[in-house]
Amino acid sequence: MAIERRGVLFVVSAPSGAGKTTLCKELVTSVTGVHPSISCTTRTPRPGEVHGQDYYFVDEQVFQAMAERNDFAESARVYGHFYGTPRQALMDMLEKGLDVLLEIDTQGAMQIKKKFSDGVYIYILPPSIDALRARLIQRGDAPEEIQRRMQKARQEILNYREYDYIVRNEDLKQASQELQAIVHAERTRMKRVDINWLEQNFIADPTTT
Ligand code: 5GP
Repeated sequence: MAIERRGVLFVVSAPSGAGKTTLCKELVTSVTGVHPSISCTTRTPRPGEVHGQDYYFVDEQVFQAMAERNDFAESARVYGHFYGTPRQALMDMLEKGLDVLLEIDTQGAMQIKKKFSDGVYIYILPPSIDALRARLIQRGDAPEEIQRRMQKARQEILNYREYDYIVRNEDLKQASQELQAIVHAERTRMKRVDINWLEQNFIADPTTT
């Protein structure tokens, strides 16, 4: 079957504690055809996280070997751990015309933007900087970890200008609807339509061929 349009690459970043993971999970379950990319990381799994589903949990040696083989479309060190997006799986999905969701930090997003200028870059903001701190405390992160993440959050938010959309997560339901609306709108953009497919199916007269 001909592909009617190319796969769209959605890249979502947010400071830690802004609700990005929840919003992305909701997006994947509520909008069909959005495929999350599964990253490799050297950090240890949190309770409930599953290898091959949330992340591929690998040790530093494996990660470095993969980086040397150029297996990552982007990679970055975040809070002392390495994270990377497997390149081949990403390319395979996009080539098949599937839409892909990357949930990555701003360093990684900027690397991807250089290679995929056609991607859609979405930044999720917490309701406020105080609300962000409150979420990290509620999540049970250690005080030094909270301090580190708050510092990084301010640095990260500075990169908002590089993104195409800003979603403020003040109300989870509304933020979720906004994220879904972005996906639907981007999927129907003219530049993503396969013009040959459109012309063959809607303009060419089958009686004259
Ligand atoms: P966490 O450890 O809390 O799951 O993620 C920490 C940060 O790393 C989050 O901002 C998350 O989006 C980011 N992250 C997760 N996977 C990747 C990846 O493959 N590449 C990059 N650059 N960042 C990632």
